[in-house]
Amino acid sequence: MAKKHAAKSNGKNGNTKSRRKVPRGVAMESFLIHGSHFTDKWDFRHHIIPPISSSVTYRLDTTERGTRGFQEYASGKATRKNPVYIYDRLDEPTRGMLEDELAGVEGGDCCVAFATGMAAVSAALGVLLNAGDDLIAHKTLYGCTYNLITRWYPRLNIGSKLIDLNNTKLLQKTITPRTRVVYFETPVNPTMELIDIGAIRKVLDAVNARRKPEERIRIVVDSTFATPYCQRPLELGADLVVHSLTKNIGGFGTDMGGAVIAGAELEGQLLLYRKDFGGALAPKSAWPILVYGLPTLPLRLKRQIETAYQVARFLRSHPKVARVCYPGLEDHPQYELAKRQMRDLHGEFAPGNMIYFETVEHAPGHSENCIKVVDWIAKHAYALTLAVSLGQLRTLIENPGAMTHAAVPPEERIKGGIAPNGIRLSIGVEDPKDLIHDLEQGLAIAD
Ligand SMILES: *Cc1c(COP(=O)(O)O)cnc(C)c1O
Repeated sequence: MAKKHAAKSNGKNGNTKSRRKVPRGVAMESFLIHGSHFTDKWDFRHHIIPPISSSVTYRLDTTERGTRGFQEYASGKATRKNPVYIYDRLDEPTRGMLEDELAGVEGGDCCVAFATGMAAVSAALGVLLNAGDDLIAHKTLYGCTYNLITRWYPRLNIGSKLIDLNNTKLLQKTITPRTRVVYFETPVNPTMELIDIGAIRKVLDAVNARRKPEERIRIVVDSTFATPYCQRPLELGADLVVHSLTKNIGGFGTDMGGAVIAGAELEGQLLLYRKDFGGALAPKSAWPILVYGLPTLPLRLKRQIETAYQVARFLRSHPKVARVCYPGLEDHPQYELAKRQMRDLHGEFAPGNMIYFETVEHAPGHSENCIKVVDWIAKHAYALTLAVSLGQLRTLIENPGAMTHAAVPPEERIKGGIAPNGIRLSIGVEDPKDLIHDLEQGLAIAD
């Protein structure tokens, strides 16, 4: 009697105490495995920051629950309103929370997240294309996307034509009965050219009106440079949006990730694709993107846009700079399109944090000044870092022709506007005057 009493006064719940004890006959090794499975320490509704979940597999209670989960999945109809969690690669709560937020901010019905941006690009195209289909892409693409389309897809008998997608007449002429996808980045990596999503929508609406639903051409937009803070392609007429979460959305350069945002009819297909091809975003990587990346996206981008504008204006006025391409500059050749297409969450002009510029050289096709300037910055600059990737707190600089886009054959690079003397800048959150100081010193050594 006295014993029972003591247990009660120790805590609000008499069970708490017994759970700290090893059940009779159970080995310590087993206790260390099963000890706290049913603990009342799990009270996620009162967490402010979601827990990092890290469970490969899930308790299923009954065979029936397991069967139901697998059947929903296999039917391609797994909606995630009331998920039966089975196995991380299928679906999982931390990644699921991130997916819900990404779908919400892009204005899409669903989002499926992948291990990297390239896994997301492969999945978006993978669910839309069959052997024998064709895709049309813009002539300038992220180097790995270019390789995916031109090196790997021929092996699957998926044809591709890379054209200037700002030429809508050419697009009309290039479409064949086998065309199923039009794919592009806007802004384009690295040239900062923009593609008019609405204009392409118009061309395809006319073509699609005469096609059976399963033969319609879809628009896939890689919106990595813009993020949903600066542009929402689904509102402008795209069917699917892909992102590298590694970049601006992740924002801190700590984790890789990718995402596809699409209409409800593709959710099941995308989930099945991820189940079978793999490449699921790890929950431990989803967590920092959910907890640090997305909440600070508007703050970071707002600051970076202000700085990018100042840096772009400085570069434009510099005698050693031949050309600057930043959609926020009034003399960007597509300034009107930029103002229509790149809007922040409140409708304000949001031209992003990426700048492309070219150094003055002695002759066309040369890059001596460009290399000199970038190498000087790599060695001596304080606020600029020579590195690939983009969208971090630090300002990053690189020479795309020699690095990120080196996989693209030289003649294709030139056609795509990636000059040997081109430099890509990803503006961070430093004070603009420190960035301008470093750039000024670097450019001073160009002849
Ligand atoms: C980086 C990047 C990708 C690929 O993303 P990863 O996360 O590196 O796989 C795709 N598209 C664009 C525009 C990118 O900048």
